[in-house]
Amino acid sequence: MINSVRWRYHVEGIVQGVGFRPFIYTLCLRFHLKGYVLNNSEGVIIDIEGFENSLNQFEEALHVELPPLARIDLITKDKKLPLQNYTEFTISKSDVSTSKHTLISPDMALCPACLEELKNPNNRRFGYPFINCTHCGPRYSIIKTVPYDRPNTSMHPFVMCHACEQEYTNPLDRRYHAQPISCEACGPTLSLKNIQGDVLATHEKALEIFARFIREGHIVAMKGMGGFHLMCDATCDMTVLELRKRKHRPSKPFAVMFGSLDDVKKECQMQVSEENELCSQLRPIVLLKRHEMLSRISIYIAPRIDRLGAFLPYTPLHVRLFDYLQTPIVATSANRSGEPIITHSDELLEKLDGVVDYYLDYNRDIVNASDDSVIQVIDDKILLMRASRGLAPKSLRFTSHETRKILAVGAQQKNAIAIYHNQQVILSPYIGDLDTVNSFEFFEKTLQSFKDFYDFEPDIIVGDMHPNYATTQWAKKQNKPFVQVQHHYAHILATLYEHRLDEKVLGIAWDGTGYGDDGTIWGGEFLVCDTTSYERVAHFEPFLLLGGDASIKDIRRILISLLFDIGFEHFDEMPFDTKDIKLLKQIYDKKINAPRCSSVGRLFDAVAVLCGLSHKVSYDGESGLLLESLYDNTISEAYSFYLEGTMIHYKHTLLDMIHDKEPRIIATKFMNALVDCVVELSAKYGLPTVLSGGVFQNRTLLENLLVKSKMPLYFPHEIPINDGGICMGQLYKMLSK
Ligand code: ZN
Ligand code: ZN
Ligand code: FE
Repeated sequence: MINSVRWRYHVEGIVQGVGFRPFIYTLCLRFHLKGYVLNNSEGVIIDIEGFENSLNQFEEALHVELPPLARIDLITKDKKLPLQNYTEFTISKSDVSTSKHTLISPDMALCPACLEELKNPNNRRFGYPFINCTHCGPRYSIIKTVPYDRPNTSMHPFVMCHACEQEYTNPLDRRYHAQPISCEACGPTLSLKNIQGDVLATHEKALEIFARFIREGHIVAMKGMGGFHLMCDATCDMTVLELRKRKHRPSKPFAVMFGSLDDVKKECQMQVSEENELCSQLRPIVLLKRHEMLSRISIYIAPRIDRLGAFLPYTPLHVRLFDYLQTPIVATSANRSGEPIITHSDELLEKLDGVVDYYLDYNRDIVNASDDSVIQVIDDKILLMRASRGLAPKSLRFTSHETRKILAVGAQQKNAIAIYHNQQVILSPYIGDLDTVNSFEFFEKTLQSFKDFYDFEPDIIVGDMHPNYATTQWAKKQNKPFVQVQHHYAHILATLYEHRLDEKVLGIAWDGTGYGDDGTIWGGEFLVCDTTSYERVAHFEPFLLLGGDASIKDIRRILISLLFDIGFEHFDEMPFDTKDIKLLKQIYDKKINAPRCSSVGRLFDAVAVLCGLSHKVSYDGESGLLLESLYDNTISEAYSFYLEGTMIHYKHTLLDMIHDKEPRIIATKFMNALVDCVVELSAKYGLPTVLSGGVFQNRTLLENLLVKSKMPLYFPHEIPINDGGICMGQLYKMLSK
């Protein structure tokens, strides 16, 4: 060809399993370019010849018209290549010889095109509960190893029928190389089983009877995308109470799946931004404010709080289920409390024996588990509470001179891990609380998957300072250099990373528990810091956790300890047992098993007890949500906390609280005091203020702060604000050295 040139591109990013190669194919047809495109373990190679002008046009279109799930991180180009005189454009077979740098796309909710086919009686996949295409469907949950090709996924046992094969091999089809492609004739099938594992029905009949069981008040389980959900009718008090009893879950709220956005609107107040998130392809659980009027939803779904975790159907199977249901349903991860989500029916029978009556199964394996992601929307921005399905593994390009491969092992609660290699930071899906053997096995399994997917073996490990965290103990046994980063500093670093802040800030990290530099428990910290170091400039006045961990569940002990501190004597006027007070006073005086603690999370507990709300906490963040439901925005007064030296004094206000009596007033003035505290300290230091830590999941606090703060305010949006983000802070400490 006269005047032709040959260019060869190497593209890295999310470019596999997202329709990237067919996209290149159509562009090359359009611009009359010949050559080939090839997936390898590092990304995609595009080797093409044509007129220089056409190649330039191709390159422009490559960036502008990129498929929705694809992301280009790096593109390199070699222009000085001898012409090969290619006669056609081909999509070549994957080359698996080189090292593995490809990024794996998370699972995605059903796309609009597939939804439309699902509902269209003239389509050959009408009603098919596993419909998907290159723009949607499972990815992470079915992949065993890279590159992302059908034999490397749990779709491998399913042999494509002729019709599917034609779509799969046609570069102009939306399902070209859609690895989970299938249809009623060749794909996975549903089966409804009882708890003995007997098959009661299959296919459409299974779905129909399963829905009827829900309507009849049974507690059932259904295999979703990243694991099983426990399900039941969300409108029936008896059923929801029965689920609570069987799960030993007294008050932790259940997420509710609604058939449509309109149904959610009937229950919850929604901003446009919240609607958008709810309907996005991520389809997260969105924590919404409920209407004050009477609701269809059982009061036992989220007892005594004014929030509801709502989400919409995200797989075709969920969409089909609502063809047979008129009511919203509880859809909560099937697991033993605190443990990873169950992905296989054997495990379901073993671990949830006596909890579920029936379950809806299908015969495609879930290789990698993931939970539903959970968010709130604050000031039109996302506040991430759990990063999992649809979001993770989350990869972010990060340019650094660091050549070592780094593993950040995160914290103990809400654990997630992060790795760095080849200029990529990758955050794992939510792993969970590492307090049980099963949870820790899941931590190890996730790490192993990451090692396999990314050909990763750490040179160095970074973790928390807490000596008793399972991650710390594990890291110390690895015979690798191990760096420990203070917990609250890591919270702030994660936020600095997200906002790419490279300056001195006032970091405010409030949470339940974190190991401090001085060996005491921190959690109400003000750190003047940058990426190199931090100074603890202020903190809440410490108190004793009487009986250590016993205080964390039995939160009356926190209030009693604080009252001892101020010499309070009128316990006879409080709803406490005198025997308890005597015993606690002994612990208090002898200071045996009574660690010092400066946590704001624990202060919420004390105030919740004072408001008569709760004596025992049954889930993390319960006190905060209970107090939020009491918050009255017509009250502007606040308790007067004050700073002296590096200490924030607040204990004297307990007497004011007792005097105020009314829970609504106490809760409001307490939260207003916390807001004032942030505003004052941030004004005092005149620095950009960075907020992080589980306490700031409190929407009331954040919204008030956004209104009142005089300094620029930053909080994380793409990284979990709670301990799920700790691994990112740890990693950033290593990368910013
Ligand atoms: Zn689709
Ligand atoms: Zn088929
Ligand atoms: Fe924390």
